[in-house]
Amino acid sequence: MSFSLEGKTCLVTGAGRGIGRAIALALGAAGADVAITYSRSEGPAKEVEAEIIKMGRKALIFQADAIDGKRADEVIGEITKAWGKLDILVNNAGITKDTLIMRMSEEQWDDVIETNLKSVFNYSKAAVRPMMKQRSGSIINIGSIVGVSGNAGQTNYSASKAGMIGFTKSLAKELATRNVRVNLVAPGYITTDMTDKLGEATLEAINKSIPMGKGGQPEDVANAVQFLGSDASAYITGVVLHVDGGMVM
Ligand code: NDP
Repeated sequence: MSFSLEGKTCLVTGAGRGIGRAIALALGAAGADVAITYSRSEGPAKEVEAEIIKMGRKALIFQADAIDGKRADEVIGEITKAWGKLDILVNNAGITKDTLIMRMSEEQWDDVIETNLKSVFNYSKAAVRPMMKQRSGSIINIGSIVGVSGNAGQTNYSASKAGMIGFTKSLAKELATRNVRVNLVAPGYITTDMTDKLGEATLEAINKSIPMGKGGQPEDVANAVQFLGSDASAYITGVVLHVDGGMVM
């Protein structure tokens, strides 16, 4: 199933690997021109760019650390200069630095909050100006169900993802009259490099806690993003959409 994004332009942060990669490819497959950022994964990001071009779409690729606000302005400036507009922004870049609070360093706290939450401020702020001018746009933040449920060993990560929910709802209220929609997709357990770090016992326990009995794939998240980026969701703003096989209800 595909929702049409014909004629739209989009930016996905952290799209060389994992969920970001699947999102970039799903948006391209639906007809959008796709810009992506990466921080370290240059080779994989170039492969994503090549795949989008192979689909017959335009692609732009930027090396950009998501915590750098000045670079966010430059990236979005270059996209609007090249393509004249930005219709969809997907704030996907994210990291984990899991440990119990007793052992968590200030650096582990700051890194996760800055990469996951400040990045969303950086890119949303830069995108809002062109989107307000266009009187249309869709910002989609990739949160996590642990931002709703909490998770032992993830105080930094859960706080960053809960912060994204408050940010999403506030910005949705600020921009609704300008026809700029802001939503959050909250994945549950999705198989990527991020979850490969978990041990077998943890994975078994996670699978048991999922009503559908299994983890999801990056494409499951990408499908939700494709919908929220498309005009099929034109009257939806400020929502938190769980993509988690029923893990958190
Ligand atoms: P991966 O670890 O597989 O990929 C993380 C991506 O984020 C990479 O493309 C990486 O780019 C990018 N990234 C990390 N730090 C930065 C930075 N400072 N600047 C720019 N890009 C950065 O993770 P996932 O694909 O699994 O996760 C993607 C999103 O989905 C994250 O926001 C995560 O929190 C969320 N999520 C994932 C879940 C899961 O089960 N996998 C569950 C819930 C939410 P590079 O390699 O170039 O550094």
